[in-house]
Amino acid sequence: MALLLPLGLLSIVAAAWVMGWGFLRVLAVLFLVWLIVLALMLAAPASEFTAFGTMDVRAWLAGGVILALILGYAGIVRNMRSKAVALWGDPQEQGRLPVPVRPGTLATDPEALERYGRHIVLREIGGPGQAKLRHASVLIIGAGGLGAPAALYLAAAGVGRIGIADPDTVSLSNLQRQIIYRSSDAGRPKAQAAGEAMRALNPLIEVQAMRRGIGAGDEGLLASFDLVLDGTDSFAGRRDINAACVAAGVPLIAGSISQWEGQLTTYDPASGGPCFACIFPQAPAPGLALSCAEAGVAGPLPGVIGSMMALEAIRQITGAGQNMVGQMLVYDGLYGETRRIAVTRRPDCPVCSGLGSGAAQA
Ligand SMILES: [Zn+2]
Repeated sequence: MALLLPLGLLSIVAAAWVMGWGFLRVLAVLFLVWLIVLALMLAAPASEFTAFGTMDVRAWLAGGVILALILGYAGIVRNMRSKAVALWGDPQEQGRLPVPVRPGTLATDPEALERYGRHIVLREIGGPGQAKLRHASVLIIGAGGLGAPAALYLAAAGVGRIGIADPDTVSLSNLQRQIIYRSSDAGRPKAQAAGEAMRALNPLIEVQAMRRGIGAGDEGLLASFDLVLDGTDSFAGRRDINAACVAAGVPLIAGSISQWEGQLTTYDPASGGPCFACIFPQAPAPGLALSCAEAGVAGPLPGVIGSMMALEAIRQITGAGQNMVGQMLVYDGLYGETRRIAVTRRPDCPVCSGLGSGAAQA
């Protein structure tokens, strides 16, 4: 009989669990029950209430104190965890497959009509183009100098679902060019901070922030997006992202920058263009391809190339104008010059030669 009360309390906790009660609500109910039992014990110590058990008031008080300590500790852990999630993101969210975009049309959404009005009046985009953007999904790999402006512009443009992946944290030296961050973001994970900035800019879109790199083995994740933007800065990373995109059959918009010069192209062997490995079959000799940290970079240059990547994504999604498949644009920021180079598929490319003839699929 002495077990009756603890069992009763346990069943309250179990019922609360099943019904999905909040922590504070369970706490309040347990405290209420404890208080009622205490009052009954004090009011009628010798009455039929003792049938509940042989426990006396002191044992009941001690039990209450122990329960309070356990629940207090659980509360502190819970509080710390929610603070950590707010700052660093939920680790269970990392790499999770994305939520589908909410259905809906521009015609039924006055906020979207006003927000995207300047796109809608463009003949090449219009209502149908804006609807394509809304139903499109884009993965941005690297939330650095190129990823920052691309992420902001694609969020602003109303691309319905945007993934942003980066394993790094924001450092003070990033702020010279990575304009999606604020000084207060220093030390925070880039994916988390960039994701928050995008959601704040446009709450109508879904943002999937992933605190990790993307490479070999991520074909499934890549295939869940319509387009991939590569803004990473190492040859090995670009090579792996290219191979995974070719395997997943997703077009890859690639930008790169160094010092004063930037490049932009779209790799899409499925539509007849080359892949990254067609153009860059070999890793550059050590010392020839310096990173931004080693060689330096003019702050607005990634802004130019990253914005061009966003523009290319909009062209690809809406079909406006001509995309950059088979063309590489080179921008010289020191002299303000651009030039375009035709790039072609290599028939013996080890990465994309398994695909059928581009002409047949184009
Ligand atoms: Zn290739």
